[in-house]
Formats: sequence, C-alpha cells, structure tokens
Amino acid sequence: MSHIAPKVGFVSLGCPKAASDSEQILTRLRAEGYEISGTYNGADLVVVNTCGFIDAAVQESLDAIGEALNENGKVIVTGCLGAKGDVVKEAHPSVLAITGPHATDEVMTHVHTHLPKPHDPFVDLVPDIGVRLTPKHYAYVKISEGCNHRCTFCIIPSMRGDLDSRAIDSVLSEAANLAKAGVKELLIISQDTSAYGVDQKYKLGFYNGRPIKTRLLELCEELGKHGIWVRLHYVYPYPSVDDIIPLMAEGKILPYLDIPFQHASQKILKLMKRPANSENVLGRIKKWREICPDLVIRSTFIVGFPGETEEDFEELLAFIEEAQLDRVGCFTYSPVAGAAANELADPVPEEVKEARKERFMAVQAEISAARLAARVGRTLTVLVDEIDEEGTAICRSYADAPEIDGLVFIEDADGLSVGDFVQVEIVDASEHDLWGERV
Ligand code: SF4
Repeated sequence: MSHIAPKVGFVSLGCPKAASDSEQILTRLRAEGYEISGTYNGADLVVVNTCGFIDAAVQESLDAIGEALNENGKVIVTGCLGAKGDVVKEAHPSVLAITGPHATDEVMTHVHTHLPKPHDPFVDLVPDIGVRLTPKHYAYVKISEGCNHRCTFCIIPSMRGDLDSRAIDSVLSEAANLAKAGVKELLIISQDTSAYGVDQKYKLGFYNGRPIKTRLLELCEELGKHGIWVRLHYVYPYPSVDDIIPLMAEGKILPYLDIPFQHASQKILKLMKRPANSENVLGRIKKWREICPDLVIRSTFIVGFPGETEEDFEELLAFIEEAQLDRVGCFTYSPVAGAAANELADPVPEEVKEARKERFMAVQAEISAARLAARVGRTLTVLVDEIDEEGTAICRSYADAPEIDGLVFIEDADGLSVGDFVQVEIVDASEHDLWGERV
C-alpha cells in the first residue's frame, strides 16, 4: 500500500548550537517517516527553530515566524526565543505550540498532535547518522547543554539551565558514525567545553565494552582515534586544559583552542563573573606554547563593559599585545534584556565604546596579520571546503574554524574534491587569508 508522507517545513536560525538541535529534530522527523519540505506551501506544518540571544536575533526570529504563518499557517516554534514564550505569543498569537531549546521530544509531541505520524514500519527505523545541516565533510558535535556559570552579560543559563553533559557513549557513538559516514572534521561545541562531565562527577561510562570517564581529556583521547580533525570550541583556561595540550602536540586533536576571554582586567572579569578569571592566563598560554608551539588561539572580547575605565582598557590592550592571539573578535558591550549586567553602575558612553573597539582592533589586526604572515613558507595540510566557478579550491588549515576564521586558497583545484585533505606550501598571506600551492 502506498502512502503520502506528511511534510514538515523547517526553518533553522541562530548559532551552531541551535543548528545541532535542528539536526536532532530533523533526524527524528525523518526517522518517523515525515518528509522535509524545502518550501512553506509544500509543507503541512512548519517548525521554526529560533534564536533569542541578542535583540536583533529576536526580531529575525519573530519575522521568520510571521513569514511561516503567512505562507503556511501551521507553525510550531522551538529554540531560545521559545523559552520566552510570552514574547512569541504576543507577536504571533496563532502559533500552534512553543517550546524552549533542546526540546526534541516536546517538539515531536506537538508535531504528532497537529500532523499525525505516518504508519510505515519500514521508515520507523532511526538511521545511524543524523540529518546534518553543515556540509557533509564537517559536523558539529554538541557535548553538553546549559552552563553552571552566571556571567552577568549572558542569559543563556536562564534559558538553557545548568550544565547537563551528554553521556560519553552517546557522544562517542555519534562521532564514530560521523567518521564512518566520511566526515573529516568534528567541531566540539557546548557552552563550556572544559566543564564536560563536571555535573556527572566525571562518572565512568562504557563505550564498546571499555570503561571511559565522562571528562574532556578522555573524550579527546577517544575522538583522536578516528584520524580526522577534532576542533575544540568554547574552552575556558582551567588548569585541566593543560592536560589536553600534549594531545595537540602529538597531533591527536587539532592544536586549536577557541577561548572566549572577554577581558583581561581582574576588576572587569569580576564584574562579568567570568569563569577561570583568577587563573594566570598569560603564564598558562606561555606554557601551552612551550608544549605545543603550533597552538592557535582564537578569542572574543567585550569592550565598554559597565565600569570599564581607560586604565582597565589599557590593561586589556597590554594583554593582547603580550598574548599574541591568532584570531580575535571584539564587540562593544550591549545590554541584553534580562542580563544582570544591565544593573551595573557606570555605563560607558557609546562613542567611548566605539573608539575603544577601534583602538583594540588596530592593535590586534597587526598581531593577527604578523602571525598569519609567519606561516608563509610552511607546508600545511588543508581541507577543501568548496571549489568555486573559477576553479579555485577554498580550503582551511588547522588554524581556521569554518565560518569564523580565515581561508586558504589553492588557485589550481584540478583533481581536487570537497572534503579532500591536501598538502600545500603557503606562498602568500593577506590580513585574513592565505594562498597555497600543492606540494
Ligand atoms: S560561561 Fe558565561 S557566557 Fe558562557 S554560557 Fe555560561 S554564563 Fe553564558
């Protein structure tokens, strides 16, 4: 007997973490026999996965919900903005249901209510590999939800709750499936990657019959066995990170750390309530580089946080001069609705924030460019992300995470395919990107 599968339209907004939620929901929908529709009017119902981190994202999410309602009419809202249900209800009272982030089961229950699940025993099988939104040669793997910190500028813990680490066997099976499916790079994400397993007291799990601790070190050791790239995001400079650096030096995982330092002045870090703010960060970086000279560090900073004086800002400039970080993003502080920092005294005037950001970026631009130029003449392995119409291969080295860092171009892409690892000699550098020739 043939049947027509019910179709679900899917809109995914927001950060890689939200994309990972989308992948889980899409996987379940597919596994239960729903078809995913690329258009609103071809769908029987639309799920919108929203982002609510900053005010601009809230507006984008509300607009997307409005569009889905106009074009289709049956809309389920999930994701970070869904955690603020009244904002959604007020703007769009006719949505069918609203859930917070990380709520695959709840979303599926609402889908079942409004669009009954098809009955077909042959499609009720959960495939080995999830449906992924990123190109097939790299994949984000989320190792935990939520966060135990309470940084005063951030509302993530109030939306996503305390740290909730995934079981180690579940993370390792997902990674193994991805590697088996041909994925070449795993991007490990969470709100606080170094804290993985803290909530479970580093409990002993089992994977393939072997006992493995629910802890970042053991996780990295296991992930390193697949012989593909493993890249760590959102790591805080806790002393435990020292243990990971030798794995980087041995080439088990990429010598790359994404550490959101946010500031360098002790006073501001305290006002921000940042994790690991009392550690000797510069000393730690120096030690890491002694063990692993190729280590690349990317970071983000906030300037113009309430109470930041010229002296605090100069301390920050001195820090980045000394730290010599590879890639850096800088944002001016902007209040997020519901964040504790909004109550802090001495807000910094807008023009001072902007001027500080410019000064900061001028200092960092020279450092980043110099560090990039130092790679000219070296031979690096790069991963091909794309081949453009002119026949140039657009690639990345270990130093570049997708979308946020730079690129490596190979002008003659003859014979290369997306997902290939290629050895290149770096022949040229611009402020952000490199050019390589195949060796
Ligand atoms: S570490 Fe701080 S900024 Fe990051 S999610 Fe937790 S509270 Fe927010």
